[in-house]
Amino acid sequence: MIKTIKSVDLKGKRIIMRVDFNVPMKDGVVQDDTRITAALPTIQYILDQGVKTLTLMSHLGDPDKDAKKAKEKAEKDGKSFDMDAYIKGKHRMAPVAAYLETKLGKPVIFAGEDSCYDKKAFIESQKDGTVIMLENTRFHKEETSKEATDRDKLAKELAGYGDLFVNDAFGTAHRDHASTASIAKFTPVSVAGFLMEKEVQFLEPIVTNPVKPLVAIIGGAKVSSKIAVLESLLKNADALVIGGGMAYTFLKAQGHKIGKSLVEDDQIDTAKSILEAAKKAGAEIILPVDQVGAETFDASAAPVQVDSQDLSDNLIGLDVGPKTLAKYKEVLDKAKTIVWNGPVGVFEFDAFAKGTEEVAKMVADATGKGTITVVGGGDSVAAVNKFNLASKMSHVSTGGGASLELLEGKKLPGIEVCRG
Ligand code: ADP
Ligand code: MG
Repeated sequence: MIKTIKSVDLKGKRIIMRVDFNVPMKDGVVQDDTRITAALPTIQYILDQGVKTLTLMSHLGDPDKDAKKAKEKAEKDGKSFDMDAYIKGKHRMAPVAAYLETKLGKPVIFAGEDSCYDKKAFIESQKDGTVIMLENTRFHKEETSKEATDRDKLAKELAGYGDLFVNDAFGTAHRDHASTASIAKFTPVSVAGFLMEKEVQFLEPIVTNPVKPLVAIIGGAKVSSKIAVLESLLKNADALVIGGGMAYTFLKAQGHKIGKSLVEDDQIDTAKSILEAAKKAGAEIILPVDQVGAETFDASAAPVQVDSQDLSDNLIGLDVGPKTLAKYKEVLDKAKTIVWNGPVGVFEFDAFAKGTEEVAKMVADATGKGTITVVGGGDSVAAVNKFNLASKMSHVSTGGGASLELLEGKKLPGIEVCRG
């Protein structure tokens, strides 16, 4: 287990807290506040304990990478490009601090990087209970440096802003960065916030000690991005439901005709060995038995129902069919834990969203019957939100990459520092 803010006395302390406020921004306006809202309970709890200061830090986008891309595009279009203005316009934390202020109903002081001042003294000069938001951590190149000594330099400075480090940034827990992990070397106490606690509480047991039977639904586009998670889940899963684009590499490995469907020919052997490993482990594998195809990969393409595991040469498989969904229901009904990562069809196209919507409904129903249900992965979470079923799941992860790595059985730097 991890140590949380509940286990320490926060009264009168200066808190330095990593949050994941890497929210989508457009012209300085927050487009989706899920991540900010998700951190509010931790922030509120900390403030209620009568702390001296609460200093928040987060990254926002990837300033260097984003700017390089934008610069290349500007050059291609023959336009001038002001790197500094671009980064300041898109990656500054000030609008996020202002947004947090409205959510919290209390001032949030933004401590920018513009002027030359002693930030530690600035923080210490604030009155009790002040919330401070630092500038984008990735404005410092040390934040993401591969060299531990570089990261340590920034980490030491950030650690100086607190008597205690709180990590509630699950979305970046898989990154070994200065503000997510290195900082813990320089703070006497490092603990997790409530969001981090909940993520670990739901995701970790799936790999270590799940309530059985465990059924994993793995879908999405590519086998290659899900191999590690498939292998890890095989250890505990009673059944693996494989859907989405990646199912076609498995179907091809079994000798089926897959038409023009998405396939990774270099993963056929991997698919075969996963099928073999599942057999050995006694885990049932459920592949699509019928499907919805189309002649083109297009939102307006006419759906073609195919009552077979084989597709004709002119078709792309874009969703699972009703017989497959009936099989899914049968295994999901027996589960005591369900983990879902990856949509089972191209749910972004309405004509091919039914499979994913039905899966979302089945998982939601299972929650109602007492099954532990966990959804992870950026697109799967987007699907669950699209169908308005997020509140019907035991847990919807806020971290795409982080949840995947945790399910792969990896140790995440941002979590490990909270072990106490
Ligand atoms: P997650 O983000 O939940 O981990 P992935 O990123 O692995 O999921 O995959 C999501 C994508 O997979 C979606 O954009 C979806 O359109 C795509 N997908 C699902 N089924 C198919 C299919 N049959 N063919 C092509 N793409 C598919
Ligand atoms: Mg994705």
